[in-house]
Amino acid sequence: MRGALGGPGVLLRRLREVMAASISPQERLDRLVVLIAGNLVAEVCSVYVLREDGSLELYATEGLNREAVHLTTMRAGEGLVGLIASEAEPLALSDAQAHPAFSYRPETGEEVYRSFLGVPILRGGAVMGVLVIQNRASRIYSEEEIETLQTTAMIMAEMIAAGGLKSLAAPGASIGLDRPIHGVGVSLADGVGLGHAVLHEPRVAITNLIAENPTAEVNRLEAAIGEMRASIDELIERGDVAHTGEHRDVLETFRMFAHDQGWLRRMREVVLTGLTAEAAVERVQSDTRARMLRQTDPYLRERLHDLDDLANRLLRTLTGKANGVAREDLPENAILVARSMGPAALLDYDRARLRGVLLEEGGPASHIAIVARALGIPAVGEVVNATALVQPGDAIIVDGQAGEVQIRPQPDVENAYKDKARLRARKQKQYEKLKELPAVTRDGVGITLQINAGLIIDMPNIAATAASGIGLFRTELQFMVAQHMPTTAEQQALYAAVLDVAGERPVTFRTLDIGGDKVLPYMERIEEENPALGWRAIRIGLDKPRLLRAQLRAMLRAGAGRNLKIMLPMVATTEEFRRARVILRREQAMLEKQGVAPPRDLRVGVMVEVPSLLFELQEIAREADFLSIGTNDLMQFLFAADRENKRVADRFDPLSVGALRALRRIVDAAEEARCPVTVCGEMGGRPLETMALIGLGYRAFSMSAASIGPVKAMLRALDAGKLRERLDWMLASPEGTINLRPQLAAFASEFKVPV
Ligand code: PEP
Ligand code: MG
Repeated sequence: MRGALGGPGVLLRRLREVMAASISPQERLDRLVVLIAGNLVAEVCSVYVLREDGSLELYATEGLNREAVHLTTMRAGEGLVGLIASEAEPLALSDAQAHPAFSYRPETGEEVYRSFLGVPILRGGAVMGVLVIQNRASRIYSEEEIETLQTTAMIMAEMIAAGGLKSLAAPGASIGLDRPIHGVGVSLADGVGLGHAVLHEPRVAITNLIAENPTAEVNRLEAAIGEMRASIDELIERGDVAHTGEHRDVLETFRMFAHDQGWLRRMREVVLTGLTAEAAVERVQSDTRARMLRQTDPYLRERLHDLDDLANRLLRTLTGKANGVAREDLPENAILVARSMGPAALLDYDRARLRGVLLEEGGPASHIAIVARALGIPAVGEVVNATALVQPGDAIIVDGQAGEVQIRPQPDVENAYKDKARLRARKQKQYEKLKELPAVTRDGVGITLQINAGLIIDMPNIAATAASGIGLFRTELQFMVAQHMPTTAEQQALYAAVLDVAGERPVTFRTLDIGGDKVLPYMERIEEENPALGWRAIRIGLDKPRLLRAQLRAMLRAGAGRNLKIMLPMVATTEEFRRARVILRREQAMLEKQGVAPPRDLRVGVMVEVPSLLFELQEIAREADFLSIGTNDLMQFLFAADRENKRVADRFDPLSVGALRALRRIVDAAEEARCPVTVCGEMGGRPLETMALIGLGYRAFSMSAASIGPVKAMLRALDAGKLRERLDWMLASPEGTINLRPQLAAFASEFKVPV
């Protein structure tokens, strides 16, 4: 290199000496800029550090007016320095003043310098400042010089991150590393959790930055790349991709990237500037992350994520550090932060120490969301770039109710959330007190409250809520969290364990409700135009009876000699119910032949969640042993509004006359046929909605465990008779009102019913 004196290796060695010297942080910075300017034959070298308010402050300079240090600041995006910080990319100009973003500060005296080279000071993709060199003459900076300056910037980044410059910050102007961030995602599991970040797959900390022997470092890098490729090949060849939660196409893309020449060349080039192999990987990874943070195209962001994952693998090989946090090392009040996570991984952590989960992926129907809800851990998903924005140990608040997170919150924000959490805890205590009191309305109407469940980890919720049973056991959850199709014996073992815990309390097992949004990773996926209206639930059961038969057998065996309730999902016609019952009878007969004791009492019911059944209510209520209303699906089909589509999911109100009249039809028909009916969709667990349902005549509900307290508090204050009268009048709708929510809320407030 012509510009650099003695090459980058010499510069890095001298930088290391300065880093090791016992001098003040300001002195260290001052010496660093002199060294860099000298080595790159520049007249100016300046360091700008990003402050918490987003502005950039001049922290040290060689060549510019030193009086300006700690006085000159640039706003975000202002001038060339601001531009570099916002784009996170180097900028080399032979005529800086001709650049449209050029602006100069007279106090620095920089107007005489024509050429300009600036690079972002990056760590983990986050901009921490800008490092600049300038020359009086017009000059074209070489690739190698740009590379050297970036390498130097990385060392500065470590210095800033280690807190070395904190003492230099002006009062009230702390360094941007600690900037608070408000992230918006989607709610996966309700609740508010405050704690500190633990990265599920932590970034590897690099301690050794500067190479002793660059040739040896190139060899180490090559060996690590070889190892990484071999491990990916092996993973693909093993064929058990479902076991790792990584799908095959993801791995294939991975394999492609692991051979990406551009990426590998970048790392080799950086090693040649004098960094260790791991520091070189980290530097390139930091550039990747910086691009990722600014990338708005989800596809490209995903690809950059893949590169980031590969870099992590390389770092682990090079540093010999294992993946993940040892389970026993999880700190108290941990908030797990991950790009994505399988349900089994979450179950591996110590529940008692977990306060929340924050993910970049994972929609409300994802398996991790299901498990988080079952464990009662607040969780938020779809927070873009969460893993890059968070440093381990950062304070984080997960607001699972709003689907938001606060990263490094300001004290006032933190206090507001602490209040919110306290309020929730206080309410929870009040609900706790209601536990032993009967679920009876003020005017003496008894209401049955059961919980929805699906995993064995849900079972303690029966005792915790004093629920009278499980009104909906979603058997598909066992299938969804498993890594392979559960065998009949495994299914039977789960059902038997559930019945054991429930004791005399009834459990309603619903047969597999897969398809639609519920996909099994190990089952062949069938592409459908409209999966919600497609081949799912009982339709699969009737077309592929082996699966249904195996499950019914598992239920009958588990229920031998006990009370057993079986429920069929997504039944659209009475005919389907009849066909399923024939299959069940056949299984019963077969088990009888084998000498297996039959259930003491067997009831077979139907989910009412497809609107067509509303026009066969008499038939179905006469033939089924019980009905259970799946309002989640019933409402999506009634209003033709996809329950998973944010744009339309809340567009129609189930408290409008159309939906309420439909629900009244069902309860009336059930009553007439003396067929027990329960509401097991989410609607039945929201106090105002449950109140309306009681007004329509419903007397049994099954809901998430967390809803039992609020619903019980509501119904104990309710006069069901008075509500019935009022609702009859509202539904007759003399005023033509369609959405009854405001009127129902007014009723609740008039009679002091907590909703
Ligand atoms: C429903 O549709 O309301 C229901 C309870 O079932 P799921 O949410 O499992 O579809
Ligand atoms: Mg349903």
